[in-house]
Amino acid sequence: MTGVIIDARINEYTSRDPNPNVPWSPEEIGEAARACREAGASIVHYHARDPETGAPSSAPELYAAAAREIRARCDVLIMPTLGAGQIPDLDDRFGHIEVMAKHARSRADLVPLDFATTNLPMLVTELDGGPALVGDDLYYLNSVGMLKELARRTRAAGAVPMAACWNVSSLRLLSAFLATGVFDEPCYAELFCTEGGLLAGHPGTRAGLEAFLACLPEGRSVCWAIACYGANALPLAELAIERGGHVALGLGDYAYPELGDGRPTNADVVAAVAERARAAGRGVATPEEVRAILRA
Ligand code: ZN
Repeated sequence: MTGVIIDARINEYTSRDPNPNVPWSPEEIGEAARACREAGASIVHYHARDPETGAPSSAPELYAAAAREIRARCDVLIMPTLGAGQIPDLDDRFGHIEVMAKHARSRADLVPLDFATTNLPMLVTELDGGPALVGDDLYYLNSVGMLKELARRTRAAGAVPMAACWNVSSLRLLSAFLATGVFDEPCYAELFCTEGGLLAGHPGTRAGLEAFLACLPEGRSVCWAIACYGANALPLAELAIERGGHVALGLGDYAYPELGDGRPTNADVVAAVAERARAAGRGVATPEEVRAILRA
């Protein structure tokens, strides 16, 4: 069994309350990547944020600057988001990856494609008036045609597409993409459980993960990683490590008050996975090993 691939999901669009260690600026992203690499991560996934306010940004220069800051410090694989799943125009969605690809120092290694068109409702329970369902108009728009085109553009940008799977039908689509050559084998896929009120993924429970695992593409070479938005992913990480899988997690998904002084860094979270990987006798994969597996 190979070493555990750890993808550090360092910031998403998460606020610094309650955990102030969420990186925003390119320098902070670079520094978080370096520390995560040292702790055992082989991939870093980030979203560009306004360096002062932390507001979501789609500025290609911020994406490229963050990649340069990462590459100046370490050899981790770089996986920026495509973000903005509601943008139907692929030029707008993919533009920053193409800008990044103009220079080797800022090129993306992996690009995540969301394998579902899905609603993104949140069940909010802490409101005075009782539970409420919010986000009526939030959704990811990812037609099969869009995904094929994004996979093609990803390769043209010198990167490898990653399958972000939200449910069992995402896995069926991945199987079809592998059968028809849209994706190459071995491929890397992240299986998304969602908690904290987000209803789009599988529940972040053993049953939620097992449902994914029961439906992995048969006879195909898929490196799968568990991800859990909105909850502590470490229990699922233990199960994934035991089952030959990999782990994607970080402060972008959850603040991890259970660790250390209650305000861990991304590297502390990665270290908690690496410790479990070593205890299970697998250890962690290096970026070099991941590049060799995925030809990234
Ligand atoms: Zn993301």
